[in-house]
Formats: sequence, structure tokens, C-alpha cells
Amino acid sequence: MDCIFCKIIAGEIPSKTLYQDEKIIAFRDINPVAPTHVLIVPKQHIASLAHLSDAETPLIGYMAKIANQLAREEGIFESGFRLVISSGEQGGQVVPHLHMHLLGGRKLAVRLC
Ligand code: AMP
Ligand code: ZN
Repeated sequence: MDCIFCKIIAGEIPSKTLYQDEKIIAFRDINPVAPTHVLIVPKQHIASLAHLSDAETPLIGYMAKIANQLAREEGIFESGFRLVISSGEQGGQVVPHLHMHLLGGRKLAVRLC
């Protein structure tokens, strides 16, 4: 499949991987917009949040749990951080494989967009 995140998951494209298990992988964003910018990505190809089935919804909670764990490891758990999921064209999604951004390490804008 011609999906950049599937290629990262398959090890065909390198990434700065911080965490992985049977369900998800987390790696540093190639174009970070904050001192910590990590992508939390399910290993299963799901095109977007809008494509998530009812049965797959627990995956989002699991991704949030791993985000908390990574925030601790990055030293931003206490100072604060933001999780973002963009879905679809007007949502600003560029890579069509569900992912969560973990952002922190500086004061983020109050205005979201
Ligand atoms: P989104 O706009 O939510 O689809 O975000 C896609 C993110 O993927 C952007 O922040 C990109 O910088 C990031 N990205 C694209 N290609 C790579 C890559 N090869 N490794 C790491 N991050 C990537
Ligand atoms: Zn994919």
C-alpha cells in the first residue's frame, strides 16, 4: 500500500521510534512544530478518525494512554501538552493514516487554528 506511515511500520522508511507494541508505534514528527512532537499511530491502516469503526474506538483510549506515558518520558507531563487528531481535508489531515500528535515543551497557542 502506498502509505508513508504503513511503510514506517513495515520498516521500509526510517523513523525515530520512541515506542511500539503489537497495536501502535510512536515516532518523532519529521517536521516538528514544538520541542516535543511525537506521532502516535495504530499499526493497522485506518484512513482517518472518520473511518474508525465502533469496534475500533477503544484504540483511541489506548493511544491516549501511550501519549500520557510518552509525555512523562519527554518530561512534559507536569508542564502540559496537547493531543491533536486531524481528520479529513478541512480538518487539516495530510497523511491518510489515523494518527495522534503529541505536542509540548513550550507554551502552545490558546487559539487552536
Ligand atoms: P497530519 O497533518 O495530521 O496528517 O500530520 C501528518 C504529519 O506527519 C505532519 O506533521 C508531518 O510532518 C508528519 N510526517 C510526514 N512524513 C513523515 C515521516 N516520514 N516521518 C515522520 N513524520 C512525518
Ligand atoms: Zn497506512
